[in-house]
Amino acid sequence: MTHDDEIYNEALDAWGHNAQMDVTIEELSELIKAIIKHRRYPTEEKAFEMAEELGDVHIMIKQLEISMSREYPDFIYWKSGSMQSKLKKISSRLEKE
Ligand SMILES: [Mg+2]
Repeated sequence: MTHDDEIYNEALDAWGHNAQMDVTIEELSELIKAIIKHRRYPTEEKAFEMAEELGDVHIMIKQLEISMSREYPDFIYWKSGSMQSKLKKISSRLEKE
């Protein structure tokens, strides 16, 4: 387990699954707003703000994965399988174009 993983686990233990999933939703909405702001004002400042929000989302996604894996040990396996399937579809579509 990495030091980062220890922090994610401690955060989940301290604040609980539901609170951290609420924060995940909040951070996702902040990233959405940052993407829209950068599209409207494509400046380095807006790109930096988007990078900050993307970092926040990554931190929360890691906690989501760990929390869900506690109840469903195959959760990461399911995610990886889904990602591989979707990447194959994208690759197939790209080959047709
Ligand atoms: Mg944020």
